[in-house]
Order: sequence, then structure tokens, then C-alpha cells
Amino acid sequence: MSTTHSRIAIFGDLLDIEQPSPAGTPLDGTPAGVRWRPQHWLLVENGRIAAVQAEAPDASWARDERAGQLILPGFIDTHVHAPQLDVIASYGTELLDWLQRYTFPAETAWADPAVAAAGSQLFLDQLLAHGTTSALVFPTVHKGSVDALFGAALARGMRLISGKCLMDRHAPPALMDTVASSERDTLDLLAAWSGKGRLAYAHTVRFAPTSSEAQLRLAGELHAASPGSYVQTHVAENRAEVEWVRALFPAYRSYLDVYERHGLLTARTTLAHGIWLDADDRARLAATGAVIAHSPTSNLFLGSGLFDWRGREADGMRLSMASDVGGGVSLSMHKTLAAAYQVAALQGQRLDAFTLLHAATRGNALSLQLDHEIGRLEPGLVADLVAWDWAEPGSVLAHRLGRAGSLHERLFAWLMLGDERLLRQTWVAGKAMV
Ligand SMILES: [Zn+2]
Repeated sequence: MSTTHSRIAIFGDLLDIEQPSPAGTPLDGTPAGVRWRPQHWLLVENGRIAAVQAEAPDASWARDERAGQLILPGFIDTHVHAPQLDVIASYGTELLDWLQRYTFPAETAWADPAVAAAGSQLFLDQLLAHGTTSALVFPTVHKGSVDALFGAALARGMRLISGKCLMDRHAPPALMDTVASSERDTLDLLAAWSGKGRLAYAHTVRFAPTSSEAQLRLAGELHAASPGSYVQTHVAENRAEVEWVRALFPAYRSYLDVYERHGLLTARTTLAHGIWLDADDRARLAATGAVIAHSPTSNLFLGSGLFDWRGREADGMRLSMASDVGGGVSLSMHKTLAAAYQVAALQGQRLDAFTLLHAATRGNALSLQLDHEIGRLEPGLVADLVAWDWAEPGSVLAHRLGRAGSLHERLFAWLMLGDERLLRQTWVAGKAMV
């Protein structure tokens, strides 16, 4: 822990991305929308960014000088499961078997408030240690899991969005609620946590197969009745899952239609995956503004499929980037973005480093309608920041950077080869955390 001085000036190489580069943008130099401000001062007052300037500030500012370090906005993770650190990197299954064999047993343990409390603290500390300062998070079905996660996030001052999982069928008995109990618990949790600190509530449908139509209807009604709330769920991750939904909901046009017809598709909805959607689904997503959270390491690890980022962008859909731990194999946004690059490459496309970095910062902030608060190094925004080294001395990355010319070449190598071991400091609302 270092200073919590209310006025602090951080010196380093500042980088943030206001706009992603359109495909085909020349990447030498600094494209429009990329703000590269080497050897600048970032002034933080009372937890917010007060100014960015080249001149050193006066003596009223405490100084934190980080020459040669990269100062970025904190990463934002738009889909991640707190209890699944217990099953990350589990062998040998696709989605539906993975849930039964690994995930549901792990989530059952969170019925114990002590397990949920310890797990939530570990999870948030690990997010911060990976440079992620905000997240949209699945806890478990248990009310206590939400209390534990929100309590730990409030103590850390983090921007966190979560809510109890709704699941009243097709799960082990210990992980099931009912329509009545889920309504009662949700109302209690909204009253206790919504708007407290930097917390917001997300009506959290695990996925369509584990909720009855009555529970889906309830979730839509509660979302409409709670201004400022979000919806999070999964959609069309895996082909067997899509077939199961078709069998469970024969009266609906598609998996996505199940959500739409229960009031769950709004501009405050984030649906993870969305790989197996047809043209009508894609048009409905573009029209409603609901967001698909691309989860590339998860989709590769569970063999779910290749998400077509450029194609979905061209469809006019809103997109975000996510780790999806524990289907995903790392909380690291470096690893997530490197996988996103590779998934695009397998489809003959390119995601440049500026586009990737934008996705993990301002792009994800926009997807959550939080761009007025996080995602850039802009006066007025909350000072959620991370200082990174470019490379460990003597490493392959250091060697590669020694041969790199443009900012893009350096940043791309850093994203592909770097990871959380390069992190030197995380700040949440101007407070040094790790
Ligand atoms: Zn997930």
C-alpha cells in the first residue's frame, strides 16, 4: 500500500484509446482516436482525474514518478464468474458436461457464507492483480454470495455489477431457487446494495435452460421495475446448448427470442458468447442495443466456436470483451485480447492493438453505459488506473521491443507477450491497491 493522499500526480507514459481504428487503418504513427502522451503527468484529486499535462505540477501535489512505465485505464471485464476460480483449467469437457462435472459442484460450496466471503475477496484481489478494476460478475444462486461479493467490492471501492443467479430448474437441488424465493431475495438485495458505493445490480439469468418461463418473466419485470439495473446471461455459446433450448422452448423463434419475449433484451443487457446466432437474432441485437460479450479464451478452451467480431460489428451490434473465467483460462486481459486476435485470425481477419486495447477499456465502459466514469484518462472520470512495465529486463518481450519501431508494433507485442507479471500498481478511485 502506498499513499492515499487526496492530491496525487502520477508521472509516466499515458495511453488511452478514444475510438477504435476502422479495419484497414494505417498503423504507423498514432491514428486518430489514440491518445499517446509519453512523459506526462496525470493529476488525481479526491479519486478523480483532475488533469493530464506535460508540465510538472506544483508542490501541493504528492508525486508518484514512474518513468518508463505505461499508465493505462484499468481494464474492465464484462463477463466473469467469481466462484469459478475453483474450477478454472478443468480438463476434458464441453459446456453442458463442464457445468455438471465441475461448475455446479464448485458453486454449491458458496452456500456457506464463509466460503463465499473468502472466495469473493480472493476473486477481487486477483482481478486487481491482473489490472482489472471493474467487472460484471456472476456469483451463485445464493443470496449470501451476492452479499459477500458486493461487500468485498464496496470495501475496495470498486465499480462492480452483479446479482444473484436465477435458476429454478435443471440444476442440482442445492443450486435451485424458486420464483417466490428469487423474487424475495432479489428485492432484498436491490434494497441493500443497488447504488451503494460504485455497485449496481444485474438481474442474472444463468441461461435459459435453468429458468422456468415464470422465472424469466419475473426477471424481466424486476429489470423494468428497477431503474439503473442491468441484465446478464449467456446465449448461443455451444451447439448442443442451442439444441437443448430449442427443445425446451418450442414456441419461440430462437434462443435469443426467449430472452426478448421476457423483457430481457435491452441496452443494459450483456449476453455472453452469442456465437450461434442467425441473421434475425443479429438484427434484434442491433435493434435493442443488447451487448454480446466476446469470451475468446473460453470459446477456445471449451471448443464452443469462433466468434466473428468484425462481422458482428458490421451487423451494427454492440460488443464487449470478457475473460469468462472459469470457462476462460485467465483473468488477464492480455491473454483475453491475444486470444481474440487469434480467433479473428482463424477467420481471416485482423484486430489491431488499438482496437483490442479500446475493447478492454473504453469499449467495455461504453457497453455498460459507464463511459462517463471509467475507460479513459480523461479529467472528470474516476481514477481507476494501472501502471505497467513494458517488459522484464532480459525477457523475450524486451528483446522484441528492442526491434520494434512504431507505437503499434510495441503495443501489439506487449499485448501478445505480456501478462499480469508486468503490473506495477493498480489504483481504484485514486487509491493504490496492489
Ligand atoms: Zn459465463
